[in-house]
Amino acid sequence: MILSQFQSVGHDLFSRGLVCSSSGNLSIRLGENLIITRRGSQLNNLEENDLIETGINKNNRATPLASVELPVHRAIYKQTSAQAIVHAHPPHAIALSLTDKEIVPNAETLPLIGKVPVLGYGAEVVPGELADIIARALKEHRVVMVHGHGSFAIGQLLEEAYSFTAEFEASCQISCLLKSLKVNTAGA
Ligand SMILES: [Zn+2]
Repeated sequence: MILSQFQSVGHDLFSRGLVCSSSGNLSIRLGENLIITRRGSQLNNLEENDLIETGINKNNRATPLASVELPVHRAIYKQTSAQAIVHAHPPHAIALSLTDKEIVPNAETLPLIGKVPVLGYGAEVVPGELADIIARALKEHRVVMVHGHGSFAIGQLLEEAYSFTAEFEASCQISCLLKSLKVNTAGA
């Protein structure tokens, strides 16, 4: 049951181009623990041994196998009521995160996810860092972007966090198209 949720969201993220090869990671809260995708796992092809259960506050023997973004997922579960987290690399959102400090989704998507802050703007971001800043921002947002890196979305279910990510990227794609049209018009 849990595996099939991870598999279906992992597959959807990959087929929509929201992650590539071994990028991105997923987790759900399970009491005092979390289940997170394994370090280096391919979200398009998740198997039972790609799901790592470890503590939100405590390490166990499986901890070293967890995704490199484990510190961020732990911080989010400690500071918010999130039940699931999706970290993806949506290309149009990443492009906008390089130029904007806040991304305002289009009128259709705005009521669903609100404004999306860009964190770590202007700084070199290393995976696993910024955990506390990301977690704090997710107290007030459903989706945040890390500058030039990717998105973190929270939900009650993996499917919900996935759908926020997909809607956000679809909106960013339109914004990028509009920006490029303006550039072309100006140049004509
Ligand atoms: Zn990433």
